[in-house]
Amino acid sequence: MVTIITRLFNTGGSKVALTSRPRGTNDIIPGEIELWLDLEQKIRTVCHAYGYKELRTPMFEHTELFQRGIGDTTDIVEKEMYTFIDRGQRSITLRPEGTAPLVRAYIENNLGSGALPVKLFYYGPMFRYERPQAGRYRQFTQFGCEALGSADPLLDVETIALPLEIYQACGLSGFEVQLNSIGCPECRATYREALIVYFEPLEDKVCGSCQGRLHRNPLRLLDCKVEACQANILDAPNIIEYLCLDCADHFSQVRTYLDQLNIPYTLNPRLVRGFDYYTRTVFEVTSSELGSQNAIGGGGRYDGLVEEVGGKPTPAVGYAVGVDRLLLALKSQNKIHLSLPGPNLYVVHFGGDTKLKAAQIAHILRGRGLWIELDHSDRSVKAQMKAANKLDSQYVLVIGEEELANNQAVLRNMKNRQEQPVALDDLETLTKNVGVCGK
Ligand code: AMP
Repeated sequence: MVTIITRLFNTGGSKVALTSRPRGTNDIIPGEIELWLDLEQKIRTVCHAYGYKELRTPMFEHTELFQRGIGDTTDIVEKEMYTFIDRGQRSITLRPEGTAPLVRAYIENNLGSGALPVKLFYYGPMFRYERPQAGRYRQFTQFGCEALGSADPLLDVETIALPLEIYQACGLSGFEVQLNSIGCPECRATYREALIVYFEPLEDKVCGSCQGRLHRNPLRLLDCKVEACQANILDAPNIIEYLCLDCADHFSQVRTYLDQLNIPYTLNPRLVRGFDYYTRTVFEVTSSELGSQNAIGGGGRYDGLVEEVGGKPTPAVGYAVGVDRLLLALKSQNKIHLSLPGPNLYVVHFGGDTKLKAAQIAHILRGRGLWIELDHSDRSVKAQMKAANKLDSQYVLVIGEEELANNQAVLRNMKNRQEQPVALDDLETLTKNVGVCGK
């Protein structure tokens, strides 16, 4: 009884430190955020080149969308979703991934009514209740690109090429594409039977989750992360040998296009990925820079998902990049070099009327989009100059009582140390001077 009370006390949520964030989450602070914004910009540039348009969905959806879309017997749905009942007694889930919500939005907004394929991308936070470790968080960011409305194998290859372009634009090296085909529901049915026949004699050697899934969804056994189960997977039947003619032909075309475009890849017949919606081509990209959580993205074809969610039969293919992990890989390769310019101008003042003038100048120049800083702590001129230097300000303007009386001050270029007189009421000239980057 005592133990139960202690446990409740410890896990009841009342003993959290207000100064610590929830486990598995991260703050992105100034100095870091610039790297994220730079990466996001690179992603947008590549998406533009491939003709993908952004779509933003809510951060939560009806739980059933993920249960039906991702699959009831997947790790995500069984163990990792942040699900709660809202005040209207609806079951709501913080999105654990972006494809099912995007498909829901595609159908709901009738986006498939024009020319196909429709090429869409998303960027934003996802939520999974996983055991946190380096590169694995409970809130993380994914970028995903999805092409809906075509079964063309070339589209599978473009869906691989697009994120590779992003990795390259960031300067990342040492990544590898792993490729497989998991066939369509028809050929998978035969493969399913073969897996059951293979795993049945091993039933007491696999983990509890695998035992529960053996007859319901044996493909999931190939995806099990438990070490003891990994050994049993090695000799499992190879899906490639079970592909029907159409799926084998589709896969062979995917490989031909990859070869033609000089995109290197490794065949991995054990790659099934953690979602039930995948059909035919699946792929994953791993980075040699990361430890156990080395996948920096993955995706595949999901020809049945649109119909499953309630739309018309619509073949589709997509990919999700783990942005947090991509940044980790770039950092460990020392590939992050952002030089951030400081303020355009730091206005040094002596308080009183000179502060009023400094505030007025700052207000007007900020309105013109320039970055202007001034002191708010009654610091000495020396301390203000030091602050301007620390911020890497491009120009400094000192306004003392005398400067104010004469309407004349000295503008100092902090890079080349050159000085020039400026009239304090001539804001056009001031704007022109400090608006040109002094670097
Ligand atoms: P998935 O949606 O599981 O196919 O994952 C796609 C990519 O998202 C992975 O390759 C990872 O880079 C990233 N990712 C997935 N789960 C997490 C997590 N819990 N924390 C950080 N990144 C993740």
